[in-house]
Amino acid sequence: MRVAVLGAGVTGITTAYYLDQQGFDVTVIDRQPLAAEETSFANGGQLSYSQPFPWSSPDLPLNLLRWLGRTDAPLVFKLKADPDLWIWGLRYLFNCQSRRFYRHAEKILELAKISRPSLLSLIQEENLEFEHEQRGILKLFTGEKELNEALHRQKWLQDHGLDQKLLNREECMEIEPALKGTRSHFTGGTWSPGDGSGNAREFTRSLVTKLMAKGVEFLFETTINGFERDSRKVTAVHLNGKVRKFDAFILCAGAFSKPVAAMAGINLPLYPVKGYSVTIPVNGSNTAPLTSITDESRHIVISRLGNQLRAAGTAEINGYQTVENRVREDMVLHAVMELFPDCGNSEKAVRWSGLRPMTTDSVPLIGRARFENFYTNTGHGPLGWTLACGSAEIIADSIAGKTTKLDITDYSVDRFI
Ligand SMILES: Cc1cc2nc3c(=O)[nH]c(=O)nc-3n(C[C@H](O)[C@H](O)[C@H](O)COP(=O)(O)OP(=O)(O)OC[C@H]3O[C@@H](n4cnc5c(N)ncnc54)[C@H](O)[C@@H]3O)c2cc1C
Repeated sequence: MRVAVLGAGVTGITTAYYLDQQGFDVTVIDRQPLAAEETSFANGGQLSYSQPFPWSSPDLPLNLLRWLGRTDAPLVFKLKADPDLWIWGLRYLFNCQSRRFYRHAEKILELAKISRPSLLSLIQEENLEFEHEQRGILKLFTGEKELNEALHRQKWLQDHGLDQKLLNREECMEIEPALKGTRSHFTGGTWSPGDGSGNAREFTRSLVTKLMAKGVEFLFETTINGFERDSRKVTAVHLNGKVRKFDAFILCAGAFSKPVAAMAGINLPLYPVKGYSVTIPVNGSNTAPLTSITDESRHIVISRLGNQLRAAGTAEINGYQTVENRVREDMVLHAVMELFPDCGNSEKAVRWSGLRPMTTDSVPLIGRARFENFYTNTGHGPLGWTLACGSAEIIADSIAGKTTKLDITDYSVDRFI
């Protein structure tokens, strides 16, 4: 059976891997000259299995009001006359209700729980190099309110079978000695020993090399610009204007999955949420952290990637553009330099922005969509790297007609009907 994977980010390439394992004849299609050129290019690097909580939390609506008009707010929302944005935004806010928030966190956690062992066995099988660190994630907080929130979430995680330790400031410094030189006034943290970090771009590109050797076909610099279909099936895809037939299609086009799905007459509840990262050369500094860090107060994540330190964060709802924004890039840069003042040369930081493919309930869209042979594996928002392997494994098992590790109907786009 000939299957087309539409998109060569971390989601598409892991999907291609598990489909190839199942014996399908796989072709990967992407408009870029290389894999992982878009959102998987320079993300925060965290493999944060213990952070399944949607951003649409019960306190978001009030926070949004407080942040209104502030260019340095963690989340900015640019008003646009775009009906997709308004429909998405209202549904997103609807999901801030506590009951919904925890129900969605549970679904993400279930996917995270299968993603960790899937990634570990994949890298053992394929011997991939991607600056992988397995030192856990240390999440720092400041003050009483954030401590209470951390306690609440720690209990919820424990009730759901995940180990997370609560630490005071000194204990955080024992876990990550680079924090001893910090200028931050953080008061404590939680440590999730099963979490980690790694370079999503390196991982994706190393896996492409392995897949090429296994005979998977790659069509780069190839834009998807339409589909042919009948009432039951999608029969062909238009690539740079030429028609190519496949037996099945798996949509993995990240934040652009919505416009690509629209070409097949499918409406996905997705919108891009822009974020920024900076990558600082560490240059022999021994005061750059090795443990991955989340700074809860400054809304940034930090990962050590070989001889570089990557920091990422902030959210901007501003359509499908990735133009530079010095104010928001500087927010990320200043936050990491405050935490680790001697981590490296901040003037040499490489700046980047990407679009998180965000669903209205923060749960990815994995499963069949409208047609018998059209599937989605997309919409992983801020957790696409973390959830890539588990998501890819279940969609491949499902297409192969095997029992999936999770009930895939919980993740399919049909849940919105
Ligand atoms: C600032 C930031 C920090 C993040 N930090 C983390 C983190 O620490 N941990 C984590 O787990 N996740 C993180 N994420 C989220 C994660 O990066 C994404 O969820 C993930 O990269 C999405 O991967 P993808 O393969 O779905 O999309 P992409 O990597 O964007 O891949 C989609 C591919 O589809 C192709 N495509 C789109 N349209 C077409 C078309 N018409 N024709 C042909 N090709 C097309 C694109 O070229 C692209 O290569 C972060 C995201 C951002 C923005």
